[in-house]
Amino acid sequence: MKYDIIIIGAGPGGIFAAYELMQKKPELKVAVFEAGHALKDRRCPIDGDKIKTCIGCKSCSIMSGFGGAGAFSDGKYNITNDFGGTLYEYIGKKRALELMNYVDEINLKYGGFGTKLYTTAGTRFKTVCIQNDLHLLDASVRHLGTDINYVVLENLYNYLKDKVTFYFDTPVLSVKVLNEGYYVKCSNAEYTCDKCIISVGRIGSKWMEEACRDMNIPTKSNRVDIGVRVELPAAVFAHLTDELYESKIVYRTEKYGDKVRTFCMNPKGAVVNENTNGIITVNGHSYEDPAKQTENTNFALLVAKHFSEPFKDSNGYGESIARLSNMLGGGVIVQRFGDLIRGRRSTPSRIEEAFITPTLNATPGDLSLVLPKRILDGIIEMIYALDKVAPGTANEDTLLYGVEVKFYNMEVEVNNNLETKYEGLYIIGDGSGITHSLSHASASGVHVARNITGE
Ligand SMILES: Cc1cc2nc3c(=O)[nH]c(=O)nc-3n(C[C@H](O)[C@H](O)[C@H](O)COP(=O)(O)OP(=O)(O)OC[C@H]3O[C@@H](n4cnc5c(N)ncnc54)[C@H](O)[C@@H]3O)c2cc1C
Repeated sequence: MKYDIIIIGAGPGGIFAAYELMQKKPELKVAVFEAGHALKDRRCPIDGDKIKTCIGCKSCSIMSGFGGAGAFSDGKYNITNDFGGTLYEYIGKKRALELMNYVDEINLKYGGFGTKLYTTAGTRFKTVCIQNDLHLLDASVRHLGTDINYVVLENLYNYLKDKVTFYFDTPVLSVKVLNEGYYVKCSNAEYTCDKCIISVGRIGSKWMEEACRDMNIPTKSNRVDIGVRVELPAAVFAHLTDELYESKIVYRTEKYGDKVRTFCMNPKGAVVNENTNGIITVNGHSYEDPAKQTENTNFALLVAKHFSEPFKDSNGYGESIARLSNMLGGGVIVQRFGDLIRGRRSTPSRIEEAFITPTLNATPGDLSLVLPKRILDGIIEMIYALDKVAPGTANEDTLLYGVEVKFYNMEVEVNNNLETKYEGLYIIGDGSGITHSLSHASASGVHVARNITGE
C-alpha cells in the first residue's frame, strides 16, 4: 500500500500534522499508524477498587492511543516559549507563538469553547515571588481540563476519520529510507510513502533511538527531571491558582545552586500513576467539571539533571531512581513532609491520621531511601521557599509522592523544518526531544504540515 504521507503516532503532534495537511491539501493520501487503541477503547484498568495499581497492560491507555499521552491529561495548553520545549530554537519565537495560538483556536473550535485562558501578564504574584527569591515564568495557559480535552479529541477524530486512514493497535516496527520515499514495516503489512512524519512521543523513546541508529540520524543526550509530586489542601495555593491556574515557579537552591521548579499544577485535581516502559512514576491532572474536582491541589517539584562525558544516559539514571521506588513501594511511594523532615518513614496510620486525604493510593514509605541527597535537599529547600508565598506548603501533612520523573527523548538532529538529513523524513513532538508539552508538540505538527504543503 502506498501513501503520500505516513504519520507514525496519533498524539497531539501527529493529530495536528494530519489536521493541517487536510486543511491545506485534502487531496493528499495520508495514513496514521498508532500503536495504541482508538480513543473510545482507551481505558486504564485502575479503578481504585478492584485494581488499585498499574498492572502493566500491553498497551498503556494513559500513554498510548488516539490523543497520545495527552488524552487523559489535564489539557493545559501553555502558550509560551519559556517552557514546554525548545521549538522556538528551530522555528523562531514569533512563529512558535503564532502556531500555539492557532492550535488554541482549533481546540476552541472543536469543543474547548468557553474554557478559561489564564495569563501571568500583569500579575502581582510576579513581585511577591521575586521578593521571596522565587521566579514566576511568563505564560498564558488554556485549561481544557481532562473532560473537555477528551471532547476536543473526539471531535478532531470525527473530523479526520473520513479524510485520513487510521491504523490503531498497529505499532510501526521500522522505517527504512528508499531511493525515493520511505518503507514502513508493521507486524503483518508493509507500506511505502513519499514523506514520513514520526511523532512517537515519550513512550516511543526507545523505538526512536533505535530508528535513529538504524538510519544513522545523529542524536544528542537530553536532560532528565527528577522529583516528587506535592499534594496539599487546595486552599493553600488558591490565591495563585484562582488567578493563574498554573504557576511555573523556579527557585535556585542556596546549598548547591541547583534550579528547582514547579511543574504541572492541578488545582482541585488528582494524583495519578504513570507507566513509562513498565516503570511506575507519578503525575497529576484535574477536571474542568466542578463535580469531578477534589479538595486538593497537586504539582510537581523537579530538579533537572544534565550529564556530560563519560555518562550520557540521563533517562537511564532517572529510570534507575524510579525503579528503586518501585522496588521499595511496589509502585509509587507517599510520605508526609513532616515524616521526611523527622527522618522517619510514613506508615499507613500516619497517612490516615493526616488532615489531608490522598487522591492516589500509594505505598507509605520513605523517599529519602530513594531520591539522591542533592535532589531531596533541593526539594526540601524549595518547599520552605514556597511556604513564604503560599503559607501551609511546608505543613507536616503535605504529601510527597515519589518519584516523578520527566524523561526527555534524545534530541534528534533536524533542520528548521524539523526535517532530518533525509528529505521528506520529519521528526516532531516529544519524540524529537525538542518539545515537552501539548502546545509545543501540536505546533510542531502544524509547522511540518505547512512546510510539506508549501504554506
Ligand atoms: C498524565 C499526563 C498528564 C499530562 N499533562 C499535560 C498538560 O496538562 N499539559 C501539557 O502541556 N502536557 C502534559 N503532558 C505531556 C503531554 O501529554 C505530551 O507533551 C504530549 O502528549 C506530546 O505529544 P506527542 O504527540 O509528541 O506524543 P504523545 O502524546 O506521547 O503521542 C505519541 C503517540 O505515538 C504512539 N507511538 C509510539 N511509538 C509508536 C510506534 N512505533 N508505532 C506507532 N505508534 C507509536 C504512542 O502510542 C502515542 O500514542 C501530560 C502527560 C501525561 C502522561
